[in-house]
Amino acid sequence: MLDALRQPLETGETIIARANHRIHYPSRIQLIAAMNPCRCGGGTGSTCKRGARCAAEYQARISGPLLDRIDLQIEVPAVSAADLLLPPPSEGSAEVGAWVARARALQQARFEALGAKGLRTNADCTGRLLEDIARPDAEGAELLRRAAESLQLTARGFHRTMRVARTLADLDGSEAVARVHIAEALSYRGETLRQQHAHAA
Ligand SMILES: [Zn+2]
Repeated sequence: MLDALRQPLETGETIIARANHRIHYPSRIQLIAAMNPCRCGGGTGSTCKRGARCAAEYQARISGPLLDRIDLQIEVPAVSAADLLLPPPSEGSAEVGAWVARARALQQARFEALGAKGLRTNADCTGRLLEDIARPDAEGAELLRRAAESLQLTARGFHRTMRVARTLADLDGSEAVARVHIAEALSYRGETLRQQHAHAA
């Protein structure tokens, strides 16, 4: 079931092929998913009575190709009672919403200036145009090149990292995609999950 999401995540459409028919359904989605670190639902490693293997086996049930299509992967530590007593964050949803709206307006203006019809956000942008608008500066390009080798990024992962870095630069109000944007984008590619995946396989 989960792996059937790979096509709509990649192309924004679902194709159902039968003997004489082929139907395309529009399927542009934003996938938000959560999982426990292991089947016990507890923490990883030391806090799980079954040990690290429990987490490795459980996380390996998500296929590598599906993980490769999830741009932002974040490990969330368990919430303690002390955390619950903390004051609310100073930046609320309204502030963050305005920040995101500014970045989206920037993207829309860029695509309009380039005459790219039908594109509104970086998420819509692929191929040559993405390489043009998301090309990092020299330091960023060097980091991306080295990370692609050491993390064994797929071509898809490489382009997805560039796209996320472009968006991080837009959130910064920066026209250049710098090393810091590439580094942050790489940090969301879920290296821990993938290593455990490789370990269990
Ligand atoms: Zn466990």
